[in-house]
Amino acid sequence: MDFAYTAEDEAFRQELVEWLDENLPKFLTEWSEEESPEGEADGTGGAGSGGVLSQMERRRAWQRKLNEGRWAAISWPAEWGGRDATVTQNVIYSETMARYRTPGIYNANGLWQIGPMIIRWGTDEQKQRWVPNILNADDHWCQGFSEPEAGSDLANLRTMAVLDGDDYVLNGQKTWTSSAHIAKWGLFLVRSDPTAIEEKRKHEGITALIVDLDVPGITVRPIRDLTGEEMFCEVFFDDARVPASYRLGGEGEGWQVAMGTLGSERVGTAGLAIGMRADLDAMVNLARSVNPAALDDPSLRARIAEAHIRIEYTKLLNYRALSKILRNEKNWPEVPLAKLQWSYLAQTLAELAVDLLGPQALPSKGAPGAVDGGAWNRLYVFQRYTSIGAGTTEVQKNIIADKALKMPRR
Ligand SMILES: Cc1cc2nc3c(=O)[nH]c(=O)nc-3n(C[C@H](O)[C@H](O)[C@H](O)COP(=O)(O)OP(=O)(O)OC[C@H]3O[C@@H](n4cnc5c(N)ncnc54)[C@H](O)[C@@H]3O)c2cc1C
Repeated sequence: MDFAYTAEDEAFRQELVEWLDENLPKFLTEWSEEESPEGEADGTGGAGSGGVLSQMERRRAWQRKLNEGRWAAISWPAEWGGRDATVTQNVIYSETMARYRTPGIYNANGLWQIGPMIIRWGTDEQKQRWVPNILNADDHWCQGFSEPEAGSDLANLRTMAVLDGDDYVLNGQKTWTSSAHIAKWGLFLVRSDPTAIEEKRKHEGITALIVDLDVPGITVRPIRDLTGEEMFCEVFFDDARVPASYRLGGEGEGWQVAMGTLGSERVGTAGLAIGMRADLDAMVNLARSVNPAALDDPSLRARIAEAHIRIEYTKLLNYRALSKILRNEKNWPEVPLAKLQWSYLAQTLAELAVDLLGPQALPSKGAPGAVDGGAWNRLYVFQRYTSIGAGTTEVQKNIIADKALKMPRR
């Protein structure tokens, strides 16, 4: 790390801290329900014992409270309710929010990905209509990219959109669409040029459409996941009509729109190391009361120390990435390394928790006597997703081999 915070950065931090000191305790008193700090309804979930969907009204209220203070979408332009925050201010924000263990927001997909894309690609009319809706948590938004044959190889997507008068007519299937069953709106990628794949130009001929999920011809079917909850869905299109005026960017420009969207996923990861450190401290403290003998076990003590070291390393990795961004250097391989480190640590901590907390950590949600209402058991199962979400482990390793190590391709 070789950067210093400017006077503006320190003033930004001070303003945020004062706002949180003023507003967070009041909010927590009003909405006293227990919740994990990490969980988001869009699939970046944490240990919340009730599952994220049961907490949506609390999340909506928190996002609205943040928005009142202009703290909901700090990277957005000031004219759309943001603060034009710099990269450094984003790091300060993520770390401070993690330190305060703030509640989850209503719609991370909307705030972090879809909103910025509408601001970047939308017409004035589209911006007026949808940007305030996302910011104020009026409706829930989902992101429909993946299909059964298009995940890591996203450009292979085949959901068809054919222009018919003033509408696109959609046919096909999406899958793994987080929170589609509670969403009113979604940003979907569709194939508007059917010849592109066979002509080996699969990144072309993709179009981004904003879809009202309540129109006829759309069926949303929740998928039950490993935790027993229904968080993501299949979405089927059967002659569903979407107005052409809902297209984001030009026809065939969907890939560019999507790449901007996925890039925004990295915003907000800087606070993860701090959140993980708090999780580690919480599980050690809890073990003192529910399973104290575990803390005398040399192998468990070594695992706690190792987790602690890796969390510190992750924090430094993030700072090194930030230093490079500030120097306008490419931050290879820090971005894929940070993703790998995040999934490794998330799973390591969840495994450590069940071993530390002993048999009482194993009963599932709602079982009598379960520690924290079964939250740690749920986390243990749920964290498997971190090797897949935001780019799979194997794909991240390919990127490191290719771009950072410059290994030859066979
Ligand atoms: C919790 C969760 C929430 C999600 N939410 C959404 C959402 O809201 N919207 C959405 O559109 N999608 C969502 N997804 C889907 C996610 O984007 C995909 O799962 C991801 O892109 C991987 O695609 P896939 O599942 O088709 O796996 P595949 O791409 O088929 O991969 C299967 C396996 O093959 C490996 N593999 C693939 N390609 C290579 C390669 N070139 N080299 C080496 N190994 C390879 C992978 O690493 C993996 O182990 C979500 C996924 C999860 C887990």
